Amino acid sequence: MRVLGIETSCDETGVALYDTERGLLADALYSQVAMHADFGGVVPELASRDHVRRLLPLIEQVLDEAGIGRDGIDAIAYTAGPGLIGALMVGAATAHGLARALEVPVLGVHHMEGHLLAPMLEPSPPEFPFVALLVSGGHTQLIDVTALGDYRLLGESVDDAAGEAFDKVAKMLGLSYPGGPAVAELANRGDPTRLRFPRPMTDRPGLDFSFSGLKTHTLTALRALDAGGELDDQARADVARAFEEAVVDTLIIKCRRALEHSARSRLVAAGGVSANRRLRERLEPGLRKSVANAQVFYPRGSFCTDNGAMIAYAGALRLAAGEHDPAGPRLTARWPLESLAAPARERIS
Ligand code: ATP
Ligand code: MG
Ligand code: FE
Repeated sequence: MRVLGIETSCDETGVALYDTERGLLADALYSQVAMHADFGGVVPELASRDHVRRLLPLIEQVLDEAGIGRDGIDAIAYTAGPGLIGALMVGAATAHGLARALEVPVLGVHHMEGHLLAPMLEPSPPEFPFVALLVSGGHTQLIDVTALGDYRLLGESVDDAAGEAFDKVAKMLGLSYPGGPAVAELANRGDPTRLRFPRPMTDRPGLDFSFSGLKTHTLTALRALDAGGELDDQARADVARAFEEAVVDTLIIKCRRALEHSARSRLVAAGGVSANRRLRERLEPGLRKSVANAQVFYPRGSFCTDNGAMIAYAGALRLAAGEHDPAGPRLTARWPLESLAAPARERIS
């Protein structure tokens, strides 16, 4: 079964074609980052309009790359939420229009289920069960995953998402949007011993996160350096490094707790922040301090952030099991992952 995947939940137009027998055939992405950069963040109405411009050419491009005509599409999956409602609408309307024309089934997919399953597109995919760390621009969650659609929330951020904190700290440092990669690059030049920032909510039991205080702590540190006439390029890099170290340590501590708590050894890390190099270097060794056989699974770098491949894949698993939208597009701007169910029949071929 060949599934066309369409992602338009935020500021990336992603399209991919996934074959349940042959794997990923092609994928393409158009990022609106440059367009939103002037505004320091995503402008929803501009995002929707740009998805309209980019989506059909991207679909053509993916079909060309895969060497497949429109009649080779057996089913269509699109992101139905969570996300910006206008942006989601573009993908949903296109998916439903195309599905009706081609007379194929179409299914709305949960964006975070896409992120969560993205490591399964890699050569050594994780087996169920596992704990998932979803760290993106809008989410920081730990989820116990028993099977497709069987998700139990273990903990989440009570305020800012980790990616959002990276983006806000980038702004404070005068770096471009999106902030994650920019802060990480600056942090490489920073001295990890000069400043030490708090590891929020790690001194008490529990699996929730909070990154808002760390953000404020970062701002206070920058102001203090500035007031002392010390805020040069090196100091900025030192602040970026202290912030990154604090986020990475916090994520590692909570992931280790989550594995212990759920008696699992496999961790899946997905979402934009899982592309972070320092996190990738330190997460598995950090977990092995208490979970000797801990193993971490990541998507490739380009599938950590939003992409069409993860939507094509998540959709393929559910479409192959017989799921599809019963009527028209179904959009949900706010949509808890835990509310998903396993497909009625797992008939995956
Ligand atoms: P959500 O998936 O929760 O709806 P989103 O789709 O906007 O949010 P993603 O596309 O998964 O989020 O990830 C984008 C986020 O990842 C941004 O906040 C960005 O700063 C962050 N990010 C990307 N690369 C890195 C990196 N190398 N280090 C840290 N953060 C990063
Ligand atoms: Mg994005
Ligand atoms: Fe995302």
